Amino acid sequence: MIVCRSCGGEVSIVLSLGPAPLANALRSADRLDEAETRYPLDLAVCRRCSLAQLAETVPPAVLFKDYPYLSSFSDTMLRHAEMLAATLVHRYALDSDALVIEIGSNDGYLLQYLRSAGIRVLGIDPARAACARAESRSIPMREAFFGSALADALVREGLRPNAIVANNVMAHVPDLNDVVAGIARLLAPGGVFVMETPYVRDLMEGLEFDTIYHEHVFYYSFTAIDQMLVRHGLRPIDVARVPIHGGSLRVSAAVDAARASSAVAALLAEEAEWGVRELTTYRTFADRVSAVRVELREFLLARKKAGRRLAAYGAAAKGAMLLSTLGIGSEVLDFVVDRNPRKQGHYLPGTHVPISPPERLLSDMPDDVLLLAWNFADEIQAQQAEYRRRGGTFIVPIPVLRVA
Ligand code: ZN
Repeated sequence: MIVCRSCGGEVSIVLSLGPAPLANALRSADRLDEAETRYPLDLAVCRRCSLAQLAETVPPAVLFKDYPYLSSFSDTMLRHAEMLAATLVHRYALDSDALVIEIGSNDGYLLQYLRSAGIRVLGIDPARAACARAESRSIPMREAFFGSALADALVREGLRPNAIVANNVMAHVPDLNDVVAGIARLLAPGGVFVMETPYVRDLMEGLEFDTIYHEHVFYYSFTAIDQMLVRHGLRPIDVARVPIHGGSLRVSAAVDAARASSAVAALLAEEAEWGVRELTTYRTFADRVSAVRVELREFLLARKKAGRRLAAYGAAAKGAMLLSTLGIGSEVLDFVVDRNPRKQGHYLPGTHVPISPPERLLSDMPDDVLLLAWNFADEIQAQQAEYRRRGGTFIVPIPVLRVA
């Protein structure tokens, strides 16, 4: 029996996508011939708390040591962070006495806006590159994984934050209960915990199966978040669906449940109606994923067979995973472009498609560009207006295959 990492209940496997390589493990040219480790990739759902999760996990130290993702390379992420910072300051009346701690603060893309507003900040992130970038912006950092031990150490230093933010991090922490326990102990009295995480309902309805990979251990419903928080003495006081990353939940929580907005009960009721606790809800999704995988693969192979030259846009983890689960590699795609200079010159894990700067779209003019970063489709198509003007075509694979 496999047990739930949140509540300890029994889980059932609903979708198998593996074995697959680690989605962020880019290959350098001199190591292309080395054997690549593949790990199982099975999505399971807890029968007790309904939390969707990977049945098997890879140790975080293996996954995040050389994590190449820097948030500030996306304009959409920066705009989203700026708005969130303004909302936090206004909503929770943060002033120059306030302290905000962000868990998984990456390169400081969010904290920079709070710091500009005169608020004290502290970032926590295990990735060396992200910490170095944040420190270069004068954002104080702790290079560490967050958990109850670090929370207790911070409390001993007298650091009790008025707000703790954990955006796009709660999906990544296998020892979920230790992290939430640490957050509950660290918050100043009256403080608020704010988390954003991809929403499992959006993932399923939008067929975003390429966001299922080893770094993402958990796929949250609000129902599952509610039970996780309550177990540690926190209660959701507000919830909203936000459009970032293909659809996310923003949940605010505090010790005092009397502050709860009506959105909390409303979303719990909506999820019950949707079937958040029914295994068939997840099995129907799995069947749709199987059909789409076949359709996408056949479409790309047909374009190639017709003599078209294909490339891709977006060397992010989910792009690597989509190609890996489709079994589409360098025999179909000439190259993939990405704005992050740290990725350029490397190769995607598994499929070994070479990564180039975006300028190569204009210099090489492939006939089709598969938009792997489909969640930034509007941003990328606007940036690549010249490629399209010269006759280039984008293929958007998800949620519905379309040529744009
Ligand atoms: Zn559970």
